[in-house]
Amino acid sequence: MLELKDVDTAYGAVPMLRGVTISVRPGELVCLLGPNGAGKTTTFMTVCGVVKAQRGKVEVMGKDIAALGTENLAALGVGLVPEGRRLFPGLTVQENLRLGYDAVSGRGPDFEPQLEKMCALFPRIRERLRQAAGTLSGGEQAMVALARALIGEPKMVVMDEPSLGLSPKLIGEYFEITQEIHRHGTTVLLIEQNAEMGLGIADRGYVLVKGKVAQEGPARELLASRTARSLYL
Ligand code: ATP
Repeated sequence: MLELKDVDTAYGAVPMLRGVTISVRPGELVCLLGPNGAGKTTTFMTVCGVVKAQRGKVEVMGKDIAALGTENLAALGVGLVPEGRRLFPGLTVQENLRLGYDAVSGRGPDFEPQLEKMCALFPRIRERLRQAAGTLSGGEQAMVALARALIGEPKMVVMDEPSLGLSPKLIGEYFEITQEIHRHGTTVLLIEQNAEMGLGIADRGYVLVKGKVAQEGPARELLASRTARSLYL
């Protein structure tokens, strides 16, 4: 569903990703880990087509992102959860969710039942539907950002450090929901700094260090690996 093949990116003259190869197969939950500045958000931006690959290839749902364009990802069945949530603060929660829904053209079910599904998955959202998104707590905003990505019933979600800034209790809740989405068949690329939590629910993982994949493998093996631990734990 997602493939980065030998991808290089740069910010101006400064190289960032170097020879990054990552794949996510249908039904998998893959975790991309790495310390601060490793290039995790750059990878997210590259998957979205916002940062262009200078070398190599990025294919999402079998399509070259360079030709596809970021704006067509939702319709293709890809839900994005960017770092920092990026909600529209002046719009209500319901309006934010509507935007996520409307981004998916040719969608099947109507908005109302989809909204109801999201309220069932995120009970905290229900009582906040008419509240401006900018006035929500960080935890509530994180849930709305995920619901906005899920409301169009994507085949795959790509999440950039969604647990950042959440309390330990909320992190636990958030990871449970992520696991549930995965269990129901959604493919997930989870970009995380919290290795224990991320690998705890993932099938496979990649460790990114200084723009390169330093290690990859089954999540359980990475959790137990001394090298992986020394790289980021
Ligand atoms: P964190 O966990 O701290 O968010 P990260 O792994 O997501 O880190 P990136 O945000 O991908 O890291 O940044 C990798 C490096 O690229 C950093 O040194 C950052 O300063 C630099 N960088 C990111 N965006 C830009 C930009 N638009 N222009 C120049 N440099 C950038």
